[in-house]
Amino acid sequence: MKAPPFAYARPTTLDSALELLAGNDDAKVLAGGQSLLPVMNLRLGAPALLVDISRIPMLDRIVVDDDGAVTIGALVTHAAVEASPEIASHQPIVAAAAPHIGHRAIRNRGTCVGSIAHADPAAEMPAVCLATDAMMIATSTRGDRAIPAADFFTGFLETDLADDELLAAVRFPASPVGARGTVVEVARRHGDYALAGLACRLVFDGDTITDAALAYFGVGPHAQRVAPAEAALVGTSGDDDALDEAVRLVAATLDPPADVHGSANYRRHLAGVLCRRAVTELRSETGEAR
Ligand SMILES: Cc1cc2nc3c(=O)[nH]c(=O)nc-3n(C[C@H](O)[C@H](O)[C@H](O)COP(=O)(O)OP(=O)(O)OC[C@H]3O[C@@H](n4cnc5c(N)ncnc54)[C@H](O)[C@@H]3O)c2cc1C
Repeated sequence: MKAPPFAYARPTTLDSALELLAGNDDAKVLAGGQSLLPVMNLRLGAPALLVDISRIPMLDRIVVDDDGAVTIGALVTHAAVEASPEIASHQPIVAAAAPHIGHRAIRNRGTCVGSIAHADPAAEMPAVCLATDAMMIATSTRGDRAIPAADFFTGFLETDLADDELLAAVRFPASPVGARGTVVEVARRHGDYALAGLACRLVFDGDTITDAALAYFGVGPHAQRVAPAEAALVGTSGDDDALDEAVRLVAATLDPPADVHGSANYRRHLAGVLCRRAVTELRSETGEAR
């Protein structure tokens, strides 16, 4: 199918993009188009105006602060995230997520920030944002605001962004000393959206876990952390007893959807498997903070 008719604007300044969003009730930002255009072609959405941000300068930057915090602009593609030595060095869990996202052609066009704004429940980046306490930088003609990841993802394909706001960047704070992170998932084929996935970050002091983040995707209406299971890991070494308890709490907490790809029980089972896999991987690492 083809998209229904729509108007198209390609502003060359951020201010003019924000004016267009403020002046049109039914406008949508167009970034890489890898989610928005399929949605329109399938007639699941019919915005009256697309505001193409691809010609706006400065939005394609990756900025690393002295403390290792990384800010990724709205036009940075998944491929650029994957290839960035700065992100690999300072925020490896972000770099680890990128290769899981679709195929190379999709990563060449699709943006990291677009994925966060789209908030697909099975997408990797929203979960990475939750695991790292990332901050969303939104802007509009009314001004700028920073939204913690924990408040940003509000429902199925829904976020805290207002209709007139553009997500200018995502900021990943410096990793704590002793942090290690990984992204693990189960998909039917490489490049498919995950049936279940986990962005896991553990902070170690020696062999002891002092902080844990288990941020799941594909198992609910949006990415979500599982606080009871995180608490079960803190103060332990991630040994088998602690893992058994964490896996039990993951299964007890999550309420995954059922669809043609898998039942709720199957996804619940996968979530436990992924918890075990991620913690086992991270506790065997001896390298520097991730
Ligand atoms: C076959 C296929 C497989 C895929 N597999 C995966 C996968 O495994 N994992 C995954 O995470 N994604 C996957 N994707 C989606 C892909 O990652 C998209 O790139 C991403 O979801 C959206 O980024 P985009 O730049 O293309 O955004 P667009 O498609 O341009 O926009 C998506 C939505 O976000 C909004 N938006 C975009 N940027 C902004 C902004 N800066 N401010 C405010 N709103 C904004 C748009 O208005 C729109 O509603 C897949 C896509 C395809 C076609």
